Amino acid sequence: MITIIGAGISGLYFGLLCKDNGIEFEILEKEVYTGGRIYTDYTSYGTPVELGASIFHSNQTLLIDLLDKFHVEYEEIKKGETLYEINCQKVDYPKQASGKFEDVIDDLCNPGKDESAKMNYNTWKNSYDQTGKILICKKGLETLTDKMADLLQEQIKFNQKVEKVKKDYLVVNGEKKKFDKLVVCTSLFEAKEFMKVPKEVMTIPSLRIYVELKNEIQFDYRYLVSDKNFRWAIVIDKKLLLASYTDGERAEQLANLGEKKAIELVLSELEISESEVVKTWFMFWKKGFEIVKWDEDVRGKHEVSKNVYATFIPDIDRNGQDQAWIEAHLRTVKSCFEKML
Ligand SMILES: Cc1cc2nc3c(=O)[nH]c(=O)nc-3n(C[C@H](O)[C@H](O)[C@H](O)COP(=O)(O)OP(=O)(O)OC[C@H]3O[C@@H](n4cnc5c(N)ncnc54)[C@H](O)[C@@H]3O)c2cc1C
Repeated sequence: MITIIGAGISGLYFGLLCKDNGIEFEILEKEVYTGGRIYTDYTSYGTPVELGASIFHSNQTLLIDLLDKFHVEYEEIKKGETLYEINCQKVDYPKQASGKFEDVIDDLCNPGKDESAKMNYNTWKNSYDQTGKILICKKGLETLTDKMADLLQEQIKFNQKVEKVKKDYLVVNGEKKKFDKLVVCTSLFEAKEFMKVPKEVMTIPSLRIYVELKNEIQFDYRYLVSDKNFRWAIVIDKKLLLASYTDGERAEQLANLGEKKAIELVLSELEISESEVVKTWFMFWKKGFEIVKWDEDVRGKHEVSKNVYATFIPDIDRNGQDQAWIEAHLRTVKSCFEKML
């Protein structure tokens, strides 16, 4: 019997792999819902709003396989969609070009200006080529975790907060419970509360500001990148805009202004007046992402102590960045499962 802690996408995926291979398992989840950091708000607005993970790339094949398997639709934020019109010149959105936005626009408007302009353009283009298309689930990513959880209903136990992990038992809601093999599928930050973890973690804050508008959005672009205070703005629906999609230092700076001021700033940069706004959502996740530099000897091994495995230790570590993506967790779960067999 395998005991899995956490019913986020990692724990659910681990459960599915066990089920497909005829292995007995149970999943202990502290909340009364599944999905973890995949969290879609289906009720506040007529369209689903992602409060956690929201976009993914066409090269993230494990996630895409899961979406296909569970018939969850996704669609591309198209490359051809016009981003801005500058000097009467239409500019396609430069994917992942954050921080370089103004340079890129400048280069596109003045091609061949100088060497650094060419370099900026190439950096942007390479980044586009590497990551492929940007995709979203219009019905919400939680549709996927809900469908995964439906298949595992009998094995998921809610309201089971793990408080301690010992050699061959754990403490759940104050009671001891023996385990044969344990897989920890929580974030590393959460795991630190109940077990020793091999390395320190750095957390990266995330901020999202959504805006519901009275009238249909007039922008003729769907997706834009800015070098200012909002990093990405995405038109989610006719009247709903993800006005700021910001991680890291900039998210913290914006959050430090306080909700009211941060929203005012983002709206002014988007040239939206307050009178046009029906409602805003301000979400600041102080510990949105984890970035860890793992030692070579830890990475990819997954077994943190005898019969205790953890999926918060990634297989890959490109300066830790890959951990921010669902795909990185799925890849880690898959290799952890294979190693455990
Ligand atoms: C704001 C935000 C935006 C993001 N945007 C994107 C994006 O656009 N694209 C992308 O690919 N990724 C994104 N991510 C990252 C993505 O959400 C995560 O990588 C992924 O959801 C992690 O899944 P997980 O199952 O490993 O962990 P989690 O989803 O954190 O699941 C862990 C589960 O364990 C449970 N748990 C924790 N402690 C205990 C305990 N003691 N006992 C029992 N259960 C416990 C939790 O309740 C939770 O259900 C974003 C994350 C955030 C926060």
